Amino acid sequence: MAEQRPVAGLTSGSTETLRESLSQPRLDDDLDVLTMTEEVRAFAHDRGAIILAHNYQLPEVQDVADFVGDSLELARKAASVPDASVIVFCGVHFMAETAAILNPEKPVVLPDIEAGCPLADMVTPHDVEDLKRQYPGAPVVSYVNTSADVKAVSDICCTSSNAVSVVRSLAASGADTVIFVPDKHLAAFVARQVPDVHIVPGNGFCPTHARFTLEDVERARKEHPEAIVVCHPECVEDVQLACDYVLSTGGMARLPSEVTASEFVVGTEVGMLYRLRTMYPECAFYPLNERAICPNMKKITLPRVLHALTTLEPIVTVPEETARLARSAIERMLVVR
Ligand code: SF4
Repeated sequence: MAEQRPVAGLTSGSTETLRESLSQPRLDDDLDVLTMTEEVRAFAHDRGAIILAHNYQLPEVQDVADFVGDSLELARKAASVPDASVIVFCGVHFMAETAAILNPEKPVVLPDIEAGCPLADMVTPHDVEDLKRQYPGAPVVSYVNTSADVKAVSDICCTSSNAVSVVRSLAASGADTVIFVPDKHLAAFVARQVPDVHIVPGNGFCPTHARFTLEDVERARKEHPEAIVVCHPECVEDVQLACDYVLSTGGMARLPSEVTASEFVVGTEVGMLYRLRTMYPECAFYPLNERAICPNMKKITLPRVLHALTTLEPIVTVPEETARLARSAIERMLVVR
């Protein structure tokens, strides 16, 4: 059996954890990575493709991408790529759907069509219609981590970066009750920031972020007493309250440039550590829990990106009427600052 190469940017412990959790084909050594990276770039150039990658992607996938970011940054980028003839989306299915909705004339390729999001599967259009009946007149905010079908029955979308601003914008228009689906922990975070609005939460959660516990925070503070402890708003509320900052991955990427600290404990999917270490080599970043790995995000491997570029498959499509309705909710979000 070929020796598996270490994944750059992760601690040896988390690399082992990552290996254990994944069952995808992977590259044998750094030469394979370099060769395949060059092939991917050459094919992308020939195809006129832009490669977008989420912060949770494998290091070699982040490295080959034209743009790496959080959900909001990727949605904005996907809405402004006039020169690209193909979008290769290295993330999970709802992200590729969002890109397809914003670019109906362009093929959007998701290198592994099985890369889904369990959180997005925790709410259906039927659930949203039920909540609308229970709270007539209340606007529906759907997290981008939802299917196009759910977005199509929502008033506005949000990401973890702009959820508070989105709800504040609704409050400024007179809403005193807001339906917020599907993530109950993000909903709790928003409710603390916008106390004047009654937030009706969905019942979903991210299984990867649910791994973080108060004990993780206490242990991190003992092991790294000088470090700032930051977590994602998809973490449970107890963990959010115990951390120094609760930020989207985009916010985490900006934090080291905004504070004087040089050590950070990071409570989100471990792929973010690679992004942070690449951006701030002078700082130290530790995982809050090195087992916080999203197996769906890790389905996108460099060989699969190459295969997607050579075949232009699998393509993610959204039915026209669903896309029209969902686009309105996404575009309404994109103008909120
Ligand atoms: S980290 Fe959580 S919310 Fe993000 S894609 Fe994975 S399961 Fe979904």
